[in-house]
Amino acid sequence: MKNNFLAKKSVYDITKFTTLDYKDHLACIIWFVKCNMRCSYCYNSKIVEGEGVLSNKELFDFLKTRIGKLDAVVLSGGECTINPDIVELCEEIKELGFKIKIDTNGLNPDILRDLIDFSLVDFIALDYKAPSEKFKLITKNSSIEKFFKTLDMLIDKKFPFEVRTTIHSGLLDEDDINSIIIDLNNRRYEGTYYIQNYLHVEDTIDKLPEFSRAMNKSLINNVIPIDFRNQ
Ligand code: SF4
Repeated sequence: MKNNFLAKKSVYDITKFTTLDYKDHLACIIWFVKCNMRCSYCYNSKIVEGEGVLSNKELFDFLKTRIGKLDAVVLSGGECTINPDIVELCEEIKELGFKIKIDTNGLNPDILRDLIDFSLVDFIALDYKAPSEKFKLITKNSSIEKFFKTLDMLIDKKFPFEVRTTIHSGLLDEDDINSIIIDLNNRRYEGTYYIQNYLHVEDTIDKLPEFSRAMNKSLINNVIPIDFRNQ
């Protein structure tokens, strides 16, 4: 690895161990700074708008100590696919023998396709933020067609991935979730759709009231497999 690559700082923090984030794997989570969205409920504003704290050298020094102890690395953030060095980072992580899971909002379909084609990612968790009519309101980004390009590409490739939506009852209701479910079904998504509740913290990007109403599960269309997380 070249010195200028090793000196770059794009990592905000590392969660050193998790069994929850990548099913059936012992993993760590790398939290990359910066994001191309500004989701109302985002509790990672320090990561989204902050600067890197750890250098790539510190990152790889840590990963080398985990060889034989962990089998996977989760790349999260922020939005890790906007990191200009994401391909090289994945190459170096793969060199150490780890599997890679990527958490993404899906707005970088070309990078994700490259990572898949180069066998530099093993699993993707894709956030379906909102139906078209609420996408910009919630994410402050209007490029939903890029998200759909990613979704269709993953379905076409039959790549291992999951789709998930975080719900704040003030932002999304049962009709919105059903609209997403119908869209996933129309696109022939064959995996499980994960619905997870927003967990209240004070420091969100938009100042949101605490979660106020549980989703009425009986109103949710079950045309595809659905899993309610943390509910
Ligand atoms: S919740 Fe939204 S703003 Fe926050 S890191 Fe994820 S995509 Fe970016």
